[in-house]
Amino acid sequence: QMTDIQPLTLITPTAPMSAGVHGGRAKCLQRLIRLEMPVPTTVALSFGAVNGIAHGQMPDMEALMAPFGDQPLLSVRPSSLNPDWGGPSAVLNVGMNDARYAQLCKDIGVTAATAIYMRFVQSYAIHVARLDPDEFYLPDVATVESLHAMLATYEFETDEPFPQQAKVQLGEVLRSMARAWDGTTARLLRQAKGAPVDAGLGLVVQRMALGVGQGDCGTGVIEFVDANSGLPKIVGRYVNQSQGRERIQDVAGAIYLTRDDRGPSFEEQCPEAFAELIEYGALIRRKLREEMQIKFTMESGVLHILDGIRVQRSSRATVRIAVALANDGIIPREEAVMRVEPAALSELLHRQVDPKAKRDLIVRGIAASPGAASGRIVLTAAEAQASAARGEPCVLVRRETTPEDIRGMHAAQAVLTMRGGVTSHAAVIGRGLGLPCVVGAFDLTIDRKKSEISGPDGRKFAVGDVITVDGTTGQVLAGAPAMLEAALDGAFQTLLEWADEFRDIGVRANADTPADAQAAQNFAAEGIGLCRTEHMFFDGDRLGVMREMIFAESSDDRRAVLERLLPMQRDDFISLFTIMAGKSVCVRLFDPPLHEFLPSDKAGLRDLAEQLALPLSDVTDRVHALSEYNPMLGMRGVRLGIAIPEIYDMQAQAIFEAMVAVGEAGVAISAEIMIPLVSAMREVELVKARVDAVANTVLSKSKSALDYRLGVMVETPRAALRAEDIAEHASFLSFGTNDLTQMTYGLSRDDAGRFMSAYVQQGVYAEDPFHTLDVEGVGELVAMGAERGRKGRKDVTLSICGEHAGSRTAIAFCREHKFDYVSCSPFRVPVARLTAAQLAL
Ligand code: PEP
Ligand code: MG
Repeated sequence: QMTDIQPLTLITPTAPMSAGVHGGRAKCLQRLIRLEMPVPTTVALSFGAVNGIAHGQMPDMEALMAPFGDQPLLSVRPSSLNPDWGGPSAVLNVGMNDARYAQLCKDIGVTAATAIYMRFVQSYAIHVARLDPDEFYLPDVATVESLHAMLATYEFETDEPFPQQAKVQLGEVLRSMARAWDGTTARLLRQAKGAPVDAGLGLVVQRMALGVGQGDCGTGVIEFVDANSGLPKIVGRYVNQSQGRERIQDVAGAIYLTRDDRGPSFEEQCPEAFAELIEYGALIRRKLREEMQIKFTMESGVLHILDGIRVQRSSRATVRIAVALANDGIIPREEAVMRVEPAALSELLHRQVDPKAKRDLIVRGIAASPGAASGRIVLTAAEAQASAARGEPCVLVRRETTPEDIRGMHAAQAVLTMRGGVTSHAAVIGRGLGLPCVVGAFDLTIDRKKSEISGPDGRKFAVGDVITVDGTTGQVLAGAPAMLEAALDGAFQTLLEWADEFRDIGVRANADTPADAQAAQNFAAEGIGLCRTEHMFFDGDRLGVMREMIFAESSDDRRAVLERLLPMQRDDFISLFTIMAGKSVCVRLFDPPLHEFLPSDKAGLRDLAEQLALPLSDVTDRVHALSEYNPMLGMRGVRLGIAIPEIYDMQAQAIFEAMVAVGEAGVAISAEIMIPLVSAMREVELVKARVDAVANTVLSKSKSALDYRLGVMVETPRAALRAEDIAEHASFLSFGTNDLTQMTYGLSRDDAGRFMSAYVQQGVYAEDPFHTLDVEGVGELVAMGAERGRKGRKDVTLSICGEHAGSRTAIAFCREHKFDYVSCSPFRVPVARLTAAQLAL
């Protein structure tokens, strides 16, 4: 930081100033002055000076006022480092007193002069003397009597006459603004916006350009871009015979700037000043390299520029403006890439509740998959499908979702669950499908019998009632508020292409279905990093076949049933490979415990008994026999592959035959087969032997070569510890941080939602480790696994594919450890591409 020698600085083109010492507004004014814009005389007070004032150390007031000459009227405005941090309200017309008033009455008329005096007394009374605003309202017409009444009220409330000395007034204004910055509320508000604890406040004191008087007088604001779309457009308002206000748009009598059919315009009224403004606008954009709003005042026909403020803008406009500035050669592409907050992109990929719409909140949960959607309440997957068949948008509301709900999720516009956290089934599938999802709405109750849900306040919503799930904020709303459409415009694509030039780590997508794969392609993922094949078995007729397979008595019976799944699975891969032509597709072999495919309720069991032509008791016994105390640590992943090898055999065959089929159609694909839940090297050896054997069989029947690689998912702590010898049999290691987090913490990813908020609130965990990669714990294991993996195989490919993978923390971590790629939900891919680029720049 610059040493604070100059508490007061008259802003000139060459005065030593910086935003870190004087604040953004002061620095910006200096830039405008350097561009030779007609900025009224301005003095900047440094952070140090203002801090001194707050603690009773007044600056040299004579020196402060000297540049403004005799009897000045002044404005005082805040100037913090970042304008978004807020600050005390501006105070205008400091210096008004009886003598100045008498003069102004002659110059601009009694009514106008009275209005100015009264407005100053009002803001002084409220902001400086801290008097009750109700006692100091402005009448519709300012009369001499109303002014006298107001001055009398001031004297009555403070036991002192209204101060007449400009120096005294200014001193008090500075003191009150300096103290306001120190207030608790102001502090909390700005810290919420990211301000550091010791953020400073600067102040700028400026000569008032009087927007009231003879000839063309008034105040206006102008912007050169539409803050919503980011497209070039002149927007703003001008008010004749008026002084600066906070929101000029709302002021009665405001006119438009440009000549069109909406009535009188500033352009018609003051064509020369308008032309000047347009020129200044272009100059500011070029030199300040930003879209700025200009505040200006006309003082008897002369234009003054009071201030330049960065245009507040939507996410969509942020992207457009950054790209346009780079395309116009004003900023380099690198900077355009840096200027867009990656999180803002996900806003653009989904529909959003219109920020202006009213929100009727039912309940709050965890924001698990961004975007918003409205639909009628349905409570089962079957109802969701029926609703979709009728063409009626619906929201699937469940206690929690299970793989059986997947068809219902496909059919629904959004998903809401009472249980679960960010890696629960509903959340993972929701993100994969780009389906808005709120999970863990623990305060919601579902009454299946009455077919209704109720919020914490007891309000009831029946099946068929329309609600809205806002997966961006975690809110569930009654009714269907207005929405904003997703926007994948050209600027968005351009920005991401630039990002790709700068990033140094790959980005793939987790994609299970052709629809996912298509989304991955649309968002330019470099391949599929995780295809969870089990999701393919919940669809349509397959669930039935899957259940038959589970109930098969012998290995031969099982093989026979799997023969029927084989062509379906092969078709899955053919379409996946075709969509991903030329890229890598990493297929993970079957992972979940088998009981997930079995019904859990009576009706389901009866249906199954009927389908299998078995007595209900047999079916029930079998289902019980398959149930485990701790299925996530039970027979799943590679353990199934070892215990019931027919499943993996079938999957490997389907993959290889699909490769042959697409190869014959001229599609090259680099297939990767990944083994889940490995904890010992021998598991890999055994599976690899069988997969290679299947490959040889398929190969012997076809002429083409099979380009495939076999790898291991590192998602148990032991796999990370033993990565060196595991890597001897694996050409790639992909870290599954969902299970790895679950097992490292000994924390169920499906149940942690119950106490996670208590844990985070009390600082036990800094953040939900299923949401933000726990770099110091889980990360340590990942780093160790990566290092040991490289020891076992020098060129082993390293990646991460848990839900963390698209986050800034995880991408930074993976870059640091020289990973090859991250793999995340398709809808997260653009965010990851931009984040990776920003980290590399
Ligand atoms: C993981 O465990 O991190 C993972 C990606 O696999 P799944 O979420 O399917 O268990
Ligand atoms: Mg896993």
